[in-house]
Amino acid sequence: MLIDLHTHTTASDGQYSPKELIDKAIGAKIQIFSVTDHDTIQGLAEARKYAELQGLSFVPGIEISSQDVEEIHILGYSIDYNNQELVSACDSFSKARSNRGQLIVDYMKSLNIYIDLNVVKSYAGDGNLGRPHFARYLIEHGVVRSRKEAFDRYLDTEDFKRATDRKKPSPDEAIKLIQGAGGKAVLAHPGIYKMSEVQLDDLIKRLVDIGIDGIECFYSRHSKEQTNKYLGYIRKYDLKTSCGSDFHGEKVKPDISLGMDIDYSYYSSVILI
Ligand code: AMP
Ligand code: ZN
Ligand code: FE
Ligand code: FE
Repeated sequence: MLIDLHTHTTASDGQYSPKELIDKAIGAKIQIFSVTDHDTIQGLAEARKYAELQGLSFVPGIEISSQDVEEIHILGYSIDYNNQELVSACDSFSKARSNRGQLIVDYMKSLNIYIDLNVVKSYAGDGNLGRPHFARYLIEHGVVRSRKEAFDRYLDTEDFKRATDRKKPSPDEAIKLIQGAGGKAVLAHPGIYKMSEVQLDDLIKRLVDIGIDGIECFYSRHSKEQTNKYLGYIRKYDLKTSCGSDFHGEKVKPDISLGMDIDYSYYSSVILI
């Protein structure tokens, strides 16, 4: 059975609209599907309505960026996307992202690279502005040759982070926001953080104390060893696992395809809610 509980649409930095993505999920024979855009619930009503019409089992989701020892992402599932606190928090995240756009332009200007913010905003349309939109600008304007170069040289350096920091919720606040909206909160992709094993161990302990519901053990960029290590945590702390690709579309993340296949023996541990 194919599952995908971590995907992005044009409501944030994904390539496809919610409807297009649902069509792709059905085409790929995915059976349980979630849209988890960065810091926004914008695409969920459309995605759910369309998925239900087609008979696809759909879980409304979100991926909230939070700040701990580094930026860590908290996935939310089965959220009530009309919940007032969640809606107003998402509004303020969108504003902070929009303000960060100008900070990014100013930072790049200090490196003698001139970015037309209106063009970058046109890539994002009504969706949340994200670093991949800036990466696209840098590629299309000949500043870099690849996304990797855009992030390695400019968009993911320590200097960049210092200059363009935006206010983010703590993991505690992100988890409470999700659970307050009736959802389940899950630590996204533990394998991609730069923290040490000791720091990750400490983070997970703290998240368990706060009441996190699960860990995204199955993730497209986790090795088998990483997945097994994180499955150890869900056994130790009696949590659930999530299972997601982080699909953004071929143009945004060419190496990630939609859908994840996991052994049936893990189904009962999956946070299907
Ligand atoms: P933002 O939430 O706007 O800060 O941007 C997050 C997006 O940028 C996510 O889709 C990440 O996968 C992508 N991203 C972050 N760091 C890197 C990196 N070093 N290389 C490629 N993509 C990255
Ligand atoms: Zn993204
Ligand atoms: Fe993420
Ligand atoms: Fe993601």
